[in-house]
Amino acid sequence: MNPIYLDYAATTPMDPRVAEKMATCLTLEGNFANPASRSHRYGWMAEEAVESARRQLAQYINADVREIVWTSGATEANNLAIKGVAEQHGHKGKHIITSTIEHKAVLDPCGYLQSKGFDVTYLTPQQDGRILASQIQEALRDDTILVSIMYVNNELGCINPIKEIGQLCREKGVLLHVDGAQAIGKTPVDVQADHIDLLSICAHKFYGPKGVGALFVKRGVKIAEQIHGGGHERGMRSGTLPTHQIVGLGEAVFIAQSEFKEEEARLSALREQLFNGLKELDGIALNGSAENCVPGILNISFAGVDGESLLLSLANLAVSSGSACNSATMAPSYVLKAIGLDDTLAHASIRFSMGRYTSEEEINQAVTSVTTAVRKLKGMAA
Ligand SMILES: *Cc1c(COP(=O)(O)O)cnc(C)c1O
Repeated sequence: MNPIYLDYAATTPMDPRVAEKMATCLTLEGNFANPASRSHRYGWMAEEAVESARRQLAQYINADVREIVWTSGATEANNLAIKGVAEQHGHKGKHIITSTIEHKAVLDPCGYLQSKGFDVTYLTPQQDGRILASQIQEALRDDTILVSIMYVNNELGCINPIKEIGQLCREKGVLLHVDGAQAIGKTPVDVQADHIDLLSICAHKFYGPKGVGALFVKRGVKIAEQIHGGGHERGMRSGTLPTHQIVGLGEAVFIAQSEFKEEEARLSALREQLFNGLKELDGIALNGSAENCVPGILNISFAGVDGESLLLSLANLAVSSGSACNSATMAPSYVLKAIGLDDTLAHASIRFSMGRYTSEEEINQAVTSVTTAVRKLKGMAA
């Protein structure tokens, strides 16, 4: 039997409705053409499909269609936003503010910019994993050109106070980039109310295909293109648009939007069921925020248990551990370390992430498996 999939924060399976829609954009009978082909009907139809998806995404985040730039995913969107701002605005200042618990797709571009002479401040999160607006306020300098803070942390599920951070950045005239990869479909995102200048999105975290995403670029915000070649996407991202991928993203947005309320309630109940089932165990602690979190992610540490042994005895669950594979060695998660866990406890942590196809029965089984494994490892009767 396949293990129970509880790793939706790593990626989601595609919704069959999305796959079906995408399949209509591939072959000669379908909508296969190059959306940039202006001289025939095939091209116009592909363009119409791409623009329809653009409207769906724009409407969902309360943006204008002209503010959406298609990319290959959130990694590319983050690179475009961060390096694009640095290159365009670097003459005004060289200071960037971000946090220590951003995704590598933010940390690595920032590290790259440091090697090019930029100065980056990495804020340490609160114990619940959140970055406060007051921390940004303290870190702001006259030469700060960009603040990059994620909406929802992928390991902890905690939601940052983006609206407050956005308000502050807008007041100070500093651009705000938000990595929204874990937010879309999980918590409402409104780029206007949140005062966001740049927002990264990817489809495969909300039941769309891998390999497609977008960067919202607020009108009037100038960024330097990072991929040259043809000037697609209003000069911000060249390359032939993958119609099927974009149509898939649009359909995934549409479904997320129409089913958000029920899905949120259902996932919140599953998360509670899981936590209630586990909280009687000795040495258990919730990592992240109990109040400000998305419903699908629950990160828990199991004190007094060897992390590797725990993971090995949970072979029937597909979950993420607090360890990251770095070639040969297992490094403890830098996110868990940043909120104060020591190496041992970070290794003994598990991220359970639930989604559209997770059932109550699966959560029951997960509770049983984890309880049995932890008791056994602690040398108690199972
Ligand atoms: C998944 C993820 C990314 C990377 O997105 P890709 O589309 O896979 O490149 C970036 N940031 C966060 C927070 C993520 O969860």
